[in-house]
Amino acid sequence: MSEAVQAYVGLGSNLEQPEEQLLRALEELSRLPGTRLSASSGLYRNPPMGPVPQPDYVNAVAALETGLSPLELLDGLQAIEQAHGRVRIERWGPRTLDLDLLLYAERVIDEPRLQVPHPGLHERPFVLYPLAEIAPGLIIPGRGSLAEWLAQCPSSGLARIDRHV
Ligand code: ATP
Ligand code: MG
Ligand code: MG
Repeated sequence: MSEAVQAYVGLGSNLEQPEEQLLRALEELSRLPGTRLSASSGLYRNPPMGPVPQPDYVNAVAALETGLSPLELLDGLQAIEQAHGRVRIERWGPRTLDLDLLLYAERVIDEPRLQVPHPGLHERPFVLYPLAEIAPGLIIPGRGSLAEWLAQCPSSGLARIDRHV
């Protein structure tokens, strides 16, 4: 395993108790080999994206320190999705868990299985707002500063969920 790098993962769920799905997923991310969960955002409730009528989403972003390669990490994310019973029926359809690799160090990757930075990252409020919570000074490789994208991204219905612990 190579030297640890910083990676960011976007989490989303809109089926079967989304908040519980995300909290469990955060714990599972921290247990990936050679990986530490270094920060996680709050949870955000968010209206669904795209043409499919479906329940609201809950979204969050996690920061990982990992010695896994990008594809090893993607394998790990997909294994966690599977363990949450994710079924792929239609693109952007409802799901128990979506884990997207948003950023991997300063790397730009363009392979059939993996594009990093994630192609939707800079225009999705449910990614930009939670990401800014844990990494406000971030530069998105090839696309400029997170702060600039955030400034031109309406929060459109996104709401931070208050958790009473
Ligand atoms: P979107 O990627 O627009 O958020 P989605 O998350 O619903 O849509 P999925 O069904 O989860 O899409 O993934 C489809 C494919 O995307 C996966 O099989 C995976 O190989 C590929 N993929 C490409 N880049 C990434 C990335 N950065 N993170 C996760 N999956 C990726
Ligand atoms: Mg996604
Ligand atoms: Mg995905």
